[in-house]
Amino acid sequence: MNTVISYFKSLTLWELVKGLHLTGGYLIKRKITIQYPEEKTPQSPRFRGLHALRRYPNGEERCIACKLCEAVCPALAITIESEPREDGTRRTTRYDIDLTKCIFCGFCEESCPVDSIVETRHFEYHGEQRGDLLMTKQNLLANGDRFEAQIAADRASESRYR
Ligand code: SF4
Ligand code: SF4
Repeated sequence: MNTVISYFKSLTLWELVKGLHLTGGYLIKRKITIQYPEEKTPQSPRFRGLHALRRYPNGEERCIACKLCEAVCPALAITIESEPREDGTRRTTRYDIDLTKCIFCGFCEESCPVDSIVETRHFEYHGEQRGDLLMTKQNLLANGDRFEAQIAADRASESRYR
């Protein structure tokens, strides 16, 4: 009996008809493909993209060099060196993130007591040379300055930050 069914199916190109039926169904379904980069999908306020170091409104760096982010980073991507300033406060002299190691887990921003290291929504970046993806303190502060408005708006919209 199975042989007869199989013979009949091959004679009527049954598998092909099934495939075309499936393909044809998608012709009238809502399209989920977007035309990137002209179109973009919605992002969560908690999107974990490029890192940034934030400042307070008076321009002072938030980071107090507690090194919690360095300790918690599972990829050992963060390197921090610090020293006290003349006014007795402590600040980093070096803050590097190696993005080739980073797994964008978000632990660094979760651990930061002063909301200094954050992950922005920016994800359209790349490196062309060795070292391009090593983010220095200057790069990270510049990212913070560039994206502060978006970061602050996202923090304000999140209940955990109220
Ligand atoms: S996102 Fe995760 S892996 Fe990347 S630097 Fe932060 S803690 Fe490390
Ligand atoms: S970014 Fe935050 S957690 Fe990391 S050293 Fe600075 S204050 Fe500490």
